[in-house]
Amino acid sequence: MSNRTYVCSVCGEVRRQPAIYYDRKGKPSRPAPLCHETEMVSLEKGYAEAATKLDAPGRVTWLRSGGLIVQEPGRRWKAAISTREIERARDQLTRHLASQ
Ligand SMILES: [Zn+2]
Repeated sequence: MSNRTYVCSVCGEVRRQPAIYYDRKGKPSRPAPLCHETEMVSLEKGYAEAATKLDAPGRVTWLRSGGLIVQEPGRRWKAAISTREIERARDQLTRHLASQ
């Protein structure tokens, strides 16, 4: 079982927790971790990398602005927060989906 990074969309706290798996009926293997009585958001690899580079208030701002990520040179991921970064993130996502 591997660990996952979860983030609270209310306070921006991050936690490492065992990953949640879903059976064929979509039933989760465990409940999502809670913070502020809210289910924490599970982050995929690049998103977790971007999130851990921000402080807690930064993560809340990032999630409110869509929670997108941009790829920087060297295959590093950065949170897209400014309008320009969000545009780049959308561009990269569109190109990524088109190449699949
Ligand atoms: Zn919280």
